[in-house]
Amino acid sequence: MSYLRCSEAALLLFTFVQLTAALKCVCHLCVNHTCETEAEGACWNSVMLINGKEEAVKSCLSPSELKGQVFCYSSRNVSKRDCCFTDFCNNETLRLNPGVILGMCAVQNLWCNHIKARKQDPEEPLDDQTLVSSDKCLKELIYDMSTSGSGSGLPLLVQRTIARTIVLQESIGKGRFGEVWRGKWRGEDVAVKIFSSRDERSWFREAEIYQTIMLRHENILGFIAADNKDNGSWTQLWLVSEYHEHGSLFDYLNRYTVSVEGMIVLALSIASGIAHLHMEIIGTQGKPAIAHRDIKSKNILVKKNGTAVIADLGLAVKHDSNTNTVDIPINHRVGTKRYMAPEILDDSINMSSFESFKRADIYSLGLVFWELARRCSVQGIYEDFQLPYYDQVQSDPSMDDMRKVVCEQKLRPNIPNQWQSCEALRIMGKIMRECWYANPAARLTALRVKKTVSQVTVVKDIKK
Ligand code: ADP
Ligand code: MG
Repeated sequence: MSYLRCSEAALLLFTFVQLTAALKCVCHLCVNHTCETEAEGACWNSVMLINGKEEAVKSCLSPSELKGQVFCYSSRNVSKRDCCFTDFCNNETLRLNPGVILGMCAVQNLWCNHIKARKQDPEEPLDDQTLVSSDKCLKELIYDMSTSGSGSGLPLLVQRTIARTIVLQESIGKGRFGEVWRGKWRGEDVAVKIFSSRDERSWFREAEIYQTIMLRHENILGFIAADNKDNGSWTQLWLVSEYHEHGSLFDYLNRYTVSVEGMIVLALSIASGIAHLHMEIIGTQGKPAIAHRDIKSKNILVKKNGTAVIADLGLAVKHDSNTNTVDIPINHRVGTKRYMAPEILDDSINMSSFESFKRADIYSLGLVFWELARRCSVQGIYEDFQLPYYDQVQSDPSMDDMRKVVCEQKLRPNIPNQWQSCEALRIMGKIMRECWYANPAARLTALRVKKTVSQVTVVKDIKK
């Protein structure tokens, strides 16, 4: 019979304690640059290529994040990740393999040319005009890029060059992070979302999502550039995108009513944007499925032509269908409480399935449709603008307030009787109900919503 000697037993015990006890880890965005994991957590180390530079993110991983093992594997694109299990073990500096950087360069020729130029003369300052030919407007640059580039965005140095020649004009919005400005670039309006250096992770994340291969779509906000500019005392983090003067759907519906046709065009474009996000496209020029996680009228923008784009991708998560995992450590209770699906509010969401995140988006989409349909004017009849659950909770409701209403009382926004007398509104009402089911699996998919809305035949109001 075998037995353990005392020292071996002690060693085993020591290892066991080490594996189960809380750890201290390096954390870039924490007080004192340190975080502490729960028992059985891990330290996380990652590096990614952004703006041509290797940027590291270090933090703690919770046991549930660790369980999927997603965060501990390097992806085949431009990131490397590592999990480790001793105090401050993520202090080590991870480097990308030079092949990855060169691979990026092959796609992003301009960056390489610049590197070569800098190598010859390290003192040479950046020359904006040689990088971005002076006669091109943004649409042309983006078109050039989509026909010849990687399908994920403008070359990084072109992004930086554009960002650094934008002149800010006026502040146009404020959300969760920083401030959104209207700016001018070569006479064209652009939107600039400025993050504080405290929110570096959010800036990095949103830029990363927008640069997901093949994300570009007419109903997703057109991303132009990301830039991090250090002025000596602080870092300014910019995200540049197409500017839409109507602002958010929230602003638009507050200001205007919409015709039946206008409602259908908005509803169809919102559903199309979400369907594109949610869809996985397989192949080298494919895209992963993405869940938004903060669908609401303030995160949808209205274009001049009356269609909409999905914006604010800062909380989005990507699905890796090969490993059936998501790409970042997930804090599942993010988003706007008022729009949170019941399974998020009562914490019953099945985090191991990516479908769950899509289904939660669909619930929120139903609420946005409700906000929209109320403003649809049929023979001069419409309702005032209201947020969902305006008659059930105060402004800025807590998670508990929402849970009581949505999960316990099982309430949903009211569907007015008069919607029954207009075909389009009746169908919108039916879609909403099928987006709101307490059972996430019973909800419509974005593709189904899109198809149903597209089949609505708009009988124009016969006026006079
Ligand atoms: P946050 O992450 O801070 O919530 P958002 O991206 O949601 O930031 O933007 C906040 C607000 O700024 C939006 O609700 C909208 O009113 C305005 N906004 C954002 N992007 C644009 C844009 N491209 N064009 C016009 N307005 C915008
Ligand atoms: Mg927002």
